[in-house]
Amino acid sequence: MSATPSSADHEPVRARLTQSLAAAAAELARRGWTPATSSNFSARIDATRFAVTVSGRDKGRLGCDDFMLMDTQACALEARKPSAEARLHAQLYRLLPRTGAILHTHSLTQTVASRHFAAAGSVRLAGYELIKALAGHDTHEQDLVLPVFANSQEMAAIERDVQTWLDAGHPLHAYLISGHGLYAWGRDIDEAMRYIEAIDFMLACELELRKLPA
Ligand SMILES: [Zn+2]
Repeated sequence: MSATPSSADHEPVRARLTQSLAAAAAELARRGWTPATSSNFSARIDATRFAVTVSGRDKGRLGCDDFMLMDTQACALEARKPSAEARLHAQLYRLLPRTGAILHTHSLTQTVASRHFAAAGSVRLAGYELIKALAGHDTHEQDLVLPVFANSQEMAAIERDVQTWLDAGHPLHAYLISGHGLYAWGRDIDEAMRYIEAIDFMLACELELRKLPA
């Protein structure tokens, strides 16, 4: 654990952000997207710090005390246990400076889609009006390619896959982890909520389309 870089200057920001994150998490939990204490949520405090859910809490009943401070190098700034996956949040804040909030859930749709498209390594969402919910997508004619990374208990392996995807010059708005769930993020919590809802809905459409006769 390293020392908090400054005193309590971040406290009002942290309180406001964790309250909003808890409300977003409660809404996602209500939909059944966070089964069995899975899922995690975070929001950026400043250039190098973010608040993230501590390990193992019921995501439908989070309070401000259920979040802890970490830095973008994935060091805990408090003597508490972050989720192992907090490293993935740190990486996104480090590599994508526009990111202000990250939502990670395990909905049925996300989990089934992640397994269905795992062999292909990605899923292409195209022809949906909802594509316009995503930044940089002004028309429904643009498409969105979501990578599907292999699941691993070694976060470093998933981090390597994210880095490889970005190094190849691919845009990255969100990603699936096979048999696991979805990571989506945005400039702020509201935008991240819009993205995770839009992507979940489009993934559900893709799965439904595959049930129809050819
Ligand atoms: Zn997870």
